[in-house]
Amino acid sequence: VIKIRNLVKSFGPFTALSGISLDINPSEVVCIIGPSGSGKSTLLRCTAFLEEYTSGEVEIEGRLLGYRKTPAGMVRESERNIDTARRNVGMVFQHFNLWPHMTVLDNVTLGPRLTKGVPAAEVSEKGRIALAKVGLADFTDRYPSRLSGGQQQRVAIARALAMEPHVILFDEPTSALDPQLVGEVLDVMKQLANEGITMVVVTHEMGFAAQVANRVVFMDRGQVVEQGSPDKLFNEPESPRLQEFLDTWR
Ligand code: ATP
Ligand code: MG
Repeated sequence: VIKIRNLVKSFGPFTALSGISLDINPSEVVCIIGPSGSGKSTLLRCTAFLEEYTSGEVEIEGRLLGYRKTPAGMVRESERNIDTARRNVGMVFQHFNLWPHMTVLDNVTLGPRLTKGVPAAEVSEKGRIALAKVGLADFTDRYPSRLSGGQQQRVAIARALAMEPHVILFDEPTSALDPQLVGEVLDVMKQLANEGITMVVVTHEMGFAAQVANRVVFMDRGQVVEQGSPDKLFNEPESPRLQEFLDTWR
């Protein structure tokens, strides 16, 4: 679904990503772990083209995202083409960023409503289905301020689902939540994983990664240092940096 090749991202003199290559296959759940500042969020943001990268390539379902190859080199795509390509990539962030003045259903259906040509009744039906999937069928008319953090994050997941993306990128979806609310969000994510939705999840929840991931990727200092099955990564880490990182979690 996603092919990342030699991705580099610099902020001025600082290199946040120094040549990342990573493929995400259909129905795969890939968890990305690594210390703070290792570039995990930057990688997700560049993959969704929320952030322009410095060099390298990101391909979503066989199409370059952001740029187009021409005989004269890489040329920036039009905003319109970028939007179209990005439509297949859902994102869920640590902070849910729901619109406070909109009901739960309106938050979830905002994206599809802005997409041309879908009848309102169909949009609202899809929104209801997405909310039912995250266990919030009875909350359509509430306002976000009247929901718990876990419920708000589930609305954010429903909002991503309503766009019917081919892959969803999660950036620490549970790290802003009170501990007792983490489980309900992880349960929804597990269920999506079981349904075969392709997911990339940046997380500090090692239990979730061990249980749900098909592959775990360890990043440090802007590089992929090691990747493999959760069993391999957690139980037989090869690189000293990963061993050290895991030690801090035990
Ligand atoms: P965390 O676990 O704390 O979320 P992370 O792995 O997601 O960390 P990033 O947020 O991707 O790390 O940041 C990677 C590096 O890039 C950090 O050193 C950060 O300070 C730097 N960085 C990120 N965004 C910017 C920016 N807009 N301008 C300058 N530097 C940035
Ligand atoms: Mg981050």
